[in-house]
Order: sequence, then structure tokens, then C-alpha cells
Amino acid sequence: MTARFRLMVLLICLFSLLVGGCSSRADLSQEEARREKVPAFSRQEQSSPSAPVLLKIHFIDIGQGDAILIQSPQGENLLIDAGEKDAAPKLLSYLEAQGVEKLAAVIGTHPHSDHIGGLSEVINTFPVARVYLPAVTHNSRTFEELLLTIKNKELKVSKASQGVKIPLNGLQAVFLAPGDENYEKLNNYSAVVELRYGENTFLLMGDAEIESEEQILQAYSDLKANVIKLGHHGSSSSSSPAFLAAVAPQYAIVMCGADNEYGHPHQETLAALKKMGIEVCRTDQDGNILISCDGRKVDISSERGNNISGSPKPQALNDKTSVAVNDESKDLIGNKKTRKFHRPDCKTLPEMQNRIFFSNREQAIAQGYTPCKSCNP
Ligand SMILES: [Zn+2]
Ligand SMILES: [Zn+2]
Repeated sequence: MTARFRLMVLLICLFSLLVGGCSSRADLSQEEARREKVPAFSRQEQSSPSAPVLLKIHFIDIGQGDAILIQSPQGENLLIDAGEKDAAPKLLSYLEAQGVEKLAAVIGTHPHSDHIGGLSEVINTFPVARVYLPAVTHNSRTFEELLLTIKNKELKVSKASQGVKIPLNGLQAVFLAPGDENYEKLNNYSAVVELRYGENTFLLMGDAEIESEEQILQAYSDLKANVIKLGHHGSSSSSSPAFLAAVAPQYAIVMCGADNEYGHPHQETLAALKKMGIEVCRTDQDGNILISCDGRKVDISSERGNNISGSPKPQALNDKTSVAVNDESKDLIGNKKTRKFHRPDCKTLPEMQNRIFFSNREQAIAQGYTPCKSCNP
């Protein structure tokens, strides 16, 4: 090998190191991906193939009502309920902040306005591939408006009923209810969704009450789940001891508004959960609640960080909370735009207004941030 040739090889190596190891370039390609309207999670996978593939379930605090966003590990979005119509602007901005650009499916669990009130706005805002509703009608303007929106968008309604599977990549989603088409109470028509990802299971009950729970118990022998979104906002008309014992969850989520007129969640329900050692997370107290799951471990964090075990420090979900947003003492710095996180001494730190601070790597990853390839935090 001549000296000249050796020098050339050395130069080529140096050049490729510079290009390959430069995170500002990686950040740039993320910005490009955003412009090309690639869904949030595929962006993440493209930029960091070694990052854990996460299922995310967002219990969105829209006051008294339900709105649950599921982001599959493959980047598909599924929305279960959309709260009251009044809360639609909040819901839409939350979805946009999560990088939602289209929805693989929306589910209106049952025709009460605290579940389907915002659904028309959602369908008018995002391209929706499928709409699931249970086989029941309701005499309300909200419900009629929803049907009209579905018709105008030339969408067909798929029936939500026991045993129907929701096609999603890498994630199993199936309706466990309604198992009947003849209930007295509208709540019992609720579409109940079971999600399975790896070793973890999540049960989302809509407003299903004890009659529906009994039918689920009869139809399924294995109802064990890591997390249950309690039926009917934690009302005592749901969550019978037999049902809770069969599900045996570690966490129970209550979606309700602060000081709601129904007294949700009811004391009887909270007492039963306490007795069984089930941890409770509530949107009225905790704000938005986020579950991140890699198929083995379930992490729960919340906007206000109350009440949640397994989280050593309060974790901020987004900029709305004062927690952790401007705290320079935290060890890691996230870039709200590129959703990457860096060591404080990284050469490619984001501008001040785009910074979010994390105490540790796990906290950053749980919130959907990927490590910078340059400083490798
Ligand atoms: Zn209801
Ligand atoms: Zn409800």
C-alpha cells in the first residue's frame, strides 16, 4: 500500500465518521420526515431502529367523558370515544400534538354524548379508515349528527360486537362486548375493547355496567389484564367484585371530570379497588394519563404525576404542566420538535423554547423520545 493510498483511505474513513455520527443530520432527516407526513412512530423507528417498540395508550383528560388514543407499535392510531362536543378543540389539539395525521379506526363505544360528542369533529378533521359502533340507535342530535358525518364522508359503520377483531399490525384488538343486542340501558351496549401486546393486556370498558360484565365473564375464561379502564367513569353500577377479581389488574383508570355532577368515581368502587390493592389513576386528578408498553413492562405516567407508583418522580406529558419543563437541574434535554433527547453537553442541543427536561433515560423514552445518536444518552 502506498502512503498516498493510505492517506486516501484515512480521509474516507474520517469523512464517513463525520457524516454518520452527526446527530444534527439525523434531526434534519426527522424534520424532512415530518414534512413528508410520515406518522410519528414510523419516524421514530426509521431514525432509531434499536429503540424499544412501544404501544402507547393515552387517556385524554377532556373533563367528564372518555377519549382514548391508542398508538400501535407500527404507528397506527385508534381512537376510542371522543368526549363531549365542547371538549373537541382540546381533543383535536392533543391528537395533533401526538403526531396523529390519520386514524386506522375510531370507535364510538355507545351513543351517549360524553363519548361520541366530539366524534363528528374528529371524523371531519382526520382521514378515518373505519368506524365502529354498537348496533343501537339513540334519539339525540349528537348521534344523528354523527351518522350524518359518517354518511357525508362515505364511510361505512362496522358493527362493534363480541368477538369482532379490529385489524391492526402487531397488536391484537378485539371486542369483548356488547354480547347482546337487547339491553335496557344504553351503557350496556358499550363496545368493550381488549388489547393485547406481547405479554400485556389492557381492558377498556366504555360505560359497560354489571349486566355486560356478567356476559363477558360467561363468554371468556381468561380476563386477566394489567390495566383496566373502569366502566362508566368509576360508577358503582360497574366494576362488580367478581369482574374485578377476574381481571385482577394492577392499575385501574378512571376517566371523569373534576367535581362532576354524578359523583364519579363512586366511593364503593374506590373502596373495592383499595381492598384489592389495585392502584387507581384518575383523569380528574392526574390529568392526561399515558401508558407506554414494550410488550413486557407497563409504564404509566401522568400530566400531574399524582398517585402513580412505579414513577419515581412526577413526569410531564407535555408543555401544559410546569413540571420538568424548565428545570435545568434535570440531566437530559429533549427536543420537542425532533423528539430526540440529548446529554447536556451534546453539540446539537435544541433551542431554549424547544427544550424539555428529563430526570433519566427511562422517563424520556416513556414519553416517546429517542436517544440522540451523537451523544448517546
Ligand atoms: Zn354512557
Ligand atoms: Zn359515559
